[in-house]
Amino acid sequence: MEYNIAVIKGDGIGPEVIAEATKVLDAIGSRFGHTFSYNYVLAGGEAIDETGRCLPPETVATAKASDAVLLGAVGGPKWDTLPGDERPERALLGLRKELGLFANLRPAMVFDELAEASPLKAELIDGGLDIVVVRELTGGIYFGEKGFKETEMGPAAYDVELYSEEEVRRIARVAFDMAMKRNKRVTSIDKANVLESSRLWRRVVTEVSAEYPEVELDHMYVDNGAMQLVRNPKHFDVIVTSNIFGDILSDEASQITGSIGMLPSASLTNGNFGMYEPVHGSAPDIAGTGKANPLATILSAGMMLRYTLGLAEEADAIDSAVRKFLNAGYRTADIYTPGTVSLTTTETGDKVASFI
Ligand code: NAD
Repeated sequence: MEYNIAVIKGDGIGPEVIAEATKVLDAIGSRFGHTFSYNYVLAGGEAIDETGRCLPPETVATAKASDAVLLGAVGGPKWDTLPGDERPERALLGLRKELGLFANLRPAMVFDELAEASPLKAELIDGGLDIVVVRELTGGIYFGEKGFKETEMGPAAYDVELYSEEEVRRIARVAFDMAMKRNKRVTSIDKANVLESSRLWRRVVTEVSAEYPEVELDHMYVDNGAMQLVRNPKHFDVIVTSNIFGDILSDEASQITGSIGMLPSASLTNGNFGMYEPVHGSAPDIAGTGKANPLATILSAGMMLRYTLGLAEEADAIDSAVRKFLNAGYRTADIYTPGTVSLTTTETGDKVASFI
């Protein structure tokens, strides 16, 4: 089969990690008989320099016409003095909105070989850890009505948390579908003891769970959820939560893995279309040094095969190549420990591709 992928290399280490991900995709193409065609488009700082806009309309048009989008990372000190809505990172919000990416999936995996990088005690993550946070991405308080008003306490500002039943239903289905492909457990995180919007959230998630009798559902208040993530992380399989709670909890979950260079992510629409990118930023401090870890982007490409292109065997081949890389004792600079073999960004891509 032939697949069209819109590719945004971005800034800083973005182009370096993307080059290794496409190298590994090409190895998948050779082994399984697929062709991946890359439509390179601009977004972020590079787009500002070349077109004056962080998200040129051609980028959106090409992304919409492609099977999926693969993105490196955007931003850097060169553009830090621009006003908020002209900064490179604004392109990400634009892409989510234009492409209707309402579900953000962030796996937080602790590979056994890298367990010592986790700040958690060994017994808490013994045997590895594998959690997916499914965060609602286009609703809630970040998109609700906001403004200023006078109160008896003086000038005040407000942001409204508003969720429709349909918004909750569709994100809940993403989480339950995901759980069906994994360990069949969903934890829904809300603040239903205080917030009306959370009570609606809890009711709708419970209704949707009736469509998935094989999946075990539990609910947690967000304060307890934040605590359980570091106290008993093995409790979790799939976490589903709102935009703001997901923003915070997905960062917490990723930190317990201890290695930001290893974490992939996906943002999905209804249907299969999605944008895939590493969790990390453009890491300007190491750009051009060969120290960037491309594994998060390579694993993101694997998620793209699994969730958008429906190529499960090919996706498994990427995950297994990354495991072989770690098992063989190879490391990038960020995850190096004495006794292992340190490789550059390019050497890492070559090795993983050779394990496909
Ligand atoms: P960052 O993730 O870029 O870097 C944080 C630290 O982690 C740095 O020390 C960096 O060297 C290291 N790091 C990150 N990725 C790595 C990798 N693949 N291999 C090895 N080490 C890695 O976060 P930051 O420094 O806060 O942000 C830098 C720029 O990236 C900013 O302009 C920020 O706005 C932008 N950013 C973009 C995205 C995105 O494009 N999705 C996400 C976060 C930050």
